[in-house]
Amino acid sequence: MAGRRVGVMGGTFDPVHHGHLVAASEAASLFGLDEVVFVPTGQPWQKTDRDVAPAEDRYLMTVIATASNPRFSVSRVDVDRGGPTYTIDTLTDLARQRPDDELFFITGADALSQILTWRDSAACFALAHFVGVTRPGFDLGAAHLPEGAVSLVEVPALAISSSDCRARVGRGMPVWYLVPDGVVQYIEKRGLYRTPVGARTTAREGVPGRDAAPSGDRPPEPPTTDLQEVPR
Ligand code: ATP
Ligand code: MG
Repeated sequence: MAGRRVGVMGGTFDPVHHGHLVAASEAASLFGLDEVVFVPTGQPWQKTDRDVAPAEDRYLMTVIATASNPRFSVSRVDVDRGGPTYTIDTLTDLARQRPDDELFFITGADALSQILTWRDSAACFALAHFVGVTRPGFDLGAAHLPEGAVSLVEVPALAISSSDCRARVGRGMPVWYLVPDGVVQYIEKRGLYRTPVGARTTAREGVPGRDAAPSGDRPPEPPTTDLQEVPR
């Protein structure tokens, strides 16, 4: 089908929660999107700042969470590429797969504030229109962003984060109604996030995910002018 308007919702989705789903749904409604593709990040290389659940688990939770919405789909482009995910790669791959579609990259206020530090941010803006959505606890400002490249929209405020969901599971607290029911059951079935956050082998919370600089045993990539770590 030619000329479709397609939202792209990138994230670590560790786990996917209702904040993600509401943001995608609201952006779809406001921008008349035919589809929103959720794109879980690939698995970071070893020795990242924290343990990230396996990519297949995050992918499957995202499939479970989006299955009932006919406009939502999930792409494996980042999972199958492996390694840290850069948005430029996500958008390049999706644009190649859907050359006639217009892409809208949906991102929360926290990620939006970092966007200029992303690898090849100018090329990202050329491949997609960016939709910045409000998120409780973060200021949504686009003053520093290229004119016309980003639209800011207000979405119903849900103060939910994956970090908090993981911490709650680690403490034995419920995540019912923060994440879809099937995701609660999947977390339980696979025993995800049971290790309390404080007991993890690595200290700092914060996820090198999409647009994170590679870390660990691999030699660092040569510095580029606009690339810094952007936890998402
Ligand atoms: P973590 O706490 O592990 O960073 P997260 O809740 O921020 O997880 P991500 O997978 O990092 O979830 O986020 C994916 C995208 O969804 C980002 O653009 C983020 O800004 C956006 N997002 C996440 N939670 C919300 C929310 N509650 N409201 C609006 N946008 C959100
Ligand atoms: Mg995040």
